[in-house]
Amino acid sequence: MKRIVILGAAESGAGAAVLAKNKGFDVFVSDMSAIKDKYKDLLNEHQIPWEEGQHTEELILNADEIIKSPGIPDKAPMIQKIKALNIPIISEIEFAGRYTNAKMICITGSNGKTTTTSLIYHILKGAGYNVGLAGNIGRSLALQVAEESFDYYVIELSSFQLDNMYDFRADIAVLMNITPDHLDRYDFKMQNYVDSKMRITRNQTADDAFVFWNDDPVVKRELEKYDLKAQLYPFSEFHENDAIAYVEDEEYVIEKPTPFNMEQEELALTGKHNLYNSLAAGITADIAGVSSELIRKGLQSFAGVEHRLEKAGRVRGIDFVNDSKATNVNACWYALESMKQPTVLILGGVDKGNDYSEIFDLVREKCIGLVFLGVDNAKLHAAFDSFGIPIRDVRSMKDCVDACYQMAKPGACVLLSPCCASFDLFKNMEDRGDQFKQYVREL
Ligand code: ADP
Repeated sequence: MKRIVILGAAESGAGAAVLAKNKGFDVFVSDMSAIKDKYKDLLNEHQIPWEEGQHTEELILNADEIIKSPGIPDKAPMIQKIKALNIPIISEIEFAGRYTNAKMICITGSNGKTTTTSLIYHILKGAGYNVGLAGNIGRSLALQVAEESFDYYVIELSSFQLDNMYDFRADIAVLMNITPDHLDRYDFKMQNYVDSKMRITRNQTADDAFVFWNDDPVVKRELEKYDLKAQLYPFSEFHENDAIAYVEDEEYVIEKPTPFNMEQEELALTGKHNLYNSLAAGITADIAGVSSELIRKGLQSFAGVEHRLEKAGRVRGIDFVNDSKATNVNACWYALESMKQPTVLILGGVDKGNDYSEIFDLVREKCIGLVFLGVDNAKLHAAFDSFGIPIRDVRSMKDCVDACYQMAKPGACVLLSPCCASFDLFKNMEDRGDQFKQYVREL
């Protein structure tokens, strides 16, 4: 019997284990950290052996194939040992893809993945499609393949998932943009990260579709190197070059496959970045065969996603906006770009190799105060101290919200869009956003 070892027992690992067990493999799960109770229960229920807090070599290095959690870096000692033995390492998505004939709609990019994935799912679901939501959001693809029989999956893919995908093919691939992120996992080489993102087009044939932001200089440059077979659906803010979806005279337009248009004003999501997300989602739904009426309805009725430019309240005429998900500089650029009021901006956390110069102009133009929320704010001080904008250093969300409240005046906006990961002071970006909202409520 073929042995499959799964490293990392969170959502993707536990799901992959259940699917592998269902398919008759000899399965073992190993996690260096503690496994959450709900995943232990799932593994026990399926009689799958597991270990936590360690990786036992004898139980791992005898595998025929390894399914690796996207959270485990290639540098991890166990991964190095597995590679030295030439044992194939794949991702949970690659594995699950082998056992379903459902149409795969895959979304990647440095920013906008979750919003676009959720919006596509919202439109398809609203149109009555038998569709599952998977990848970085919701339940793992593997568990759904094991337990459900969807006709479509809408899957959010990170670069880490794409890294270990080989034979998988997306029927519709969507690439939102490529800007620096996670460089600490790519030897600080941007090209490595770019190559990883471009893997979304891998194995696509002339029957498949590739939807991408036409104005991204990196994507444009990369496309010249590739001989893509898929049908191309470039989108842009403007009707220029060869974009097939754009805005013209305040009309949101999709030229093909089925011509579609609506008033831009009717889109539920606002801000330039969300226009891109709405264009990508509209084209995708159009390719999937959703009627114009139901695409329009979906784009009008989407409620947005938590922690993404989420309104967190108004106190004494000061608006608070939770954009905790902005964990890189480009995401913060779009958040600041969409601000109409003088802004107190909260920055800081774990810096993944950030270059803050991208937001210098917007900070000068829009910010009346900066609050640095992190254990180590030295790099932020080096970048912004010379601007002459009032700056405060804080180490907890309570102090942060209080400082912002003191710095902002009625009519201003406090924006949490920190450019950084949250792990120095919070469990994760959701915890950071939830605490922000909680202390705003308590003001
Ligand atoms: P991801 O899943 O790729 O992290 P999200 O949809 O969760 O993307 O959005 C994360 C943040 O990135 C948002 O809070 C917003 O500030 C910014 N953002 C969203 N969509 C885009 C886009 N298309 N281009 C650039 N920035 C975006």
